[in-house]
Amino acid sequence: MQKSTDVKDALQKDEAHLWHSMKPFNPEATIIAQEAKGAWVTDAGGKRYLDAMAGLWCVNAGYGRTELAEAAYEQLKKLAYFPLTQSHLPAIELSEKLNDMLGGDYVIFFSNSGSEANETAFKIARQYHQQTGSSERYKIISRYRAYHGNTLGSLAATGQAQRKYKYEPLAPGFIHVAPPDQYRFPEEEGIKPAELKSVQAVDQAMTWELSETVAAVIMEPIITGGGILMPPEQYMQGVKESCEKHGALLIVDEVICGFGRTGKAFGFMNYGVKPDIITMAKGITSAYLPLSATAVKKEIYEAFKGTEEYDYFRHVNTFGGNPAACALALKNIEIFEKEKLFERSAELGAKIKSELTSRLQKNPLVGNVRGKGLLIGVELVENKETKAPLNAGLVNKVMAVCKEKGLLIGKNGATVAGFNNVLAISPPLNIEDEDAAFIVETLISELNAIA
Ligand code: PLP
Repeated sequence: MQKSTDVKDALQKDEAHLWHSMKPFNPEATIIAQEAKGAWVTDAGGKRYLDAMAGLWCVNAGYGRTELAEAAYEQLKKLAYFPLTQSHLPAIELSEKLNDMLGGDYVIFFSNSGSEANETAFKIARQYHQQTGSSERYKIISRYRAYHGNTLGSLAATGQAQRKYKYEPLAPGFIHVAPPDQYRFPEEEGIKPAELKSVQAVDQAMTWELSETVAAVIMEPIITGGGILMPPEQYMQGVKESCEKHGALLIVDEVICGFGRTGKAFGFMNYGVKPDIITMAKGITSAYLPLSATAVKKEIYEAFKGTEEYDYFRHVNTFGGNPAACALALKNIEIFEKEKLFERSAELGAKIKSELTSRLQKNPLVGNVRGKGLLIGVELVENKETKAPLNAGLVNKVMAVCKEKGLLIGKNGATVAGFNNVLAISPPLNIEDEDAAFIVETLISELNAIA
């Protein structure tokens, strides 16, 4: 489809038949992707873009890996499907591998998307308490600005009002607290976790909600889609301590932070905490096929082995743990290990962050550069003193000029109160050094041109 007339035709058909997520269709701004290799996507008109968002933070192993396609193909020929009400070898092997990566002591429930993995976690948390004699525990505490999915429960856990507007009322029993944010509300490093204000916000919510009614807290290690908000290093430990004190489970959403995004296998591993439940998706297959997982501590799983008629977990997922998706995930993890991509994410991410920090220090629009591994946010402001967010028009302009130059970056935060002012960089973990240089140079020159 190289000829421009074909592209025009495709865009017309697109407008007639395809319902896109997120925003109204705009043919001027739509990329019809045709092929991709490494971090580079080629559109139907032949223009190339460096995808510094790895799709939606998910193509961790990079595009164009034929060995991933082959792993799925071989499995599809052998056994395309069998439900996990029974079993199959790729799911068994992948659950064993994930348990090893998590440091042991977990069993795995497979689904297809991050939203489903979180829904599964909520149900497990609620039923677990029912089965262990705390039948009043149903509330889930989460943080404002976090995104946890598009289904009624996972959207209810989400702390971004703009995503819920016009769909409410959603699922009851979800309570939100303020998130940590070391740029806007810095907290002292090195004090006891329980002394952090952001931890106290969680702890007090549990007390005021009546701890006996709280089933779990859900958190991402670093809030990603809500603006790449960096917590104090002791925050997660503090939340875990608070959960233990009040008898609630800690669910960690690793849908974006997992599989090397923050420079470790899983984001929680940066913070010395062992969660009760861990949800993951996206990077598990580098998005080549849909797959997600909910990893649950064995002692929680054991509580589902009761003798009453409804003591088992009655949640069914037709496609979850598809054999080809599991085989592909195993090959994907093999690539991460063979190419040391988690280490690469840590090193290259630190390098990009430090370059952007030092070279954008004098740029009046750049309030803060932050992140861990290849998860980097650049917060744009009107005024560095007041930290007032940069207006949407200029943020969009930065994105547009970068795109014009062949660089796709993300933008997030929360449109509420104009906080949609954080540029996101979350490329495939195998990007080349020259790709990283292209990201840094393009972003710096365009931000300097606009300032
Ligand atoms: N959790 C987080 C942190 C996410 O970023 C997302 C999606 O972006 C989800 C959950 C939901 O995942 P999915 O879109 O696969 O349902």
